[in-house]
Amino acid sequence: MWKRMFFSIITALFILSLPQWTNSKEQPTNTPEDRKALYLKTAAITDVPWYVLAAVDQYERSLRNIRRDLPDAKGITGIYFKPEQWAGPLNPNKKDNNRFHLALFNGLGRDGSGDGLADINNPEDVLYAMAERLSERGPGIDNIKLALWDYYQRGKTVEMILQLSKLYQHFNRVDLDVHAFPIPLRMNYDYKSTWGARRGWGGLRIHEGTDIFADYGTPVKATSYGVIEMIGWNKFGGWRLGIRDPQNIYHYYAHLRGYGRHIKKGTVVKPGQIIGYVGSSGYGPKGTQGKFPPHLHYGMYRDNGSTEFSFDPYPYLKAWERQERQ
Ligand SMILES: [Zn+2]
Repeated sequence: MWKRMFFSIITALFILSLPQWTNSKEQPTNTPEDRKALYLKTAAITDVPWYVLAAVDQYERSLRNIRRDLPDAKGITGIYFKPEQWAGPLNPNKKDNNRFHLALFNGLGRDGSGDGLADINNPEDVLYAMAERLSERGPGIDNIKLALWDYYQRGKTVEMILQLSKLYQHFNRVDLDVHAFPIPLRMNYDYKSTWGARRGWGGLRIHEGTDIFADYGTPVKATSYGVIEMIGWNKFGGWRLGIRDPQNIYHYYAHLRGYGRHIKKGTVVKPGQIIGYVGSSGYGPKGTQGKFPPHLHYGMYRDNGSTEFSFDPYPYLKAWERQERQ
């Protein structure tokens, strides 16, 4: 009896002591301010600007949010190194955190915090290791571009990271997750959930978006912060444009009558900014219009690091519309 009580007390004490053990390594909290502070700190000891570090970090975070083969990003940094990348491909100890061993085995792991260890679980070390990797070709944005290409081996990824870094540099902050509904709520408009429906023109394609019907000339607003990634005529979409947002989501606006002022490739936009006007352009050679009633075709695409895929924008449109009504 006494023995049993003694053991339950010991067990209770053990459980009570657990949280302190797991928290013994102090991790900074994951607010936008904390993230920016970490980027600035790392930029100060490397040749890589904070907004490039922020862009790489956010790009990798967005991948980990959608890919099942990568662990979720829980901490302050989104960058993920595989243990064998960190320790070095030929290193027999995949958990090695001795920076001299890692250098010997060509591991990417570095010590950014100055505690003598290259710790894959220390965000300062992880971000510093990435900054070192991006400095390999030398200083300056052109060399960083080459280093990004070396690391990711994909032009689209380099383009997305550079756009995102432009966004962070422009606004000088990383909390850019505000949204707007693409049509002013005071205008006449109507939309239904039509993503995935079959459509006729141009062969068998599924409908990769939501059609918002509105009058000719109704202003079309950016739904997010972002950079104009693509703009111009396309035989399907007519006058269309695409905006890449900080979550690495691509927002596609088609069948426009025309574009907003100063809207061109590379322009930085914010939510609510007028980027174009509702029309009925498309389904033919350049300038074709009037083949269907005027509407905004609005599509959303995610990128998984190798390919882009469409998902249903309808629930997002509903949420942004509701938010704006309040
Ligand atoms: Zn459509």
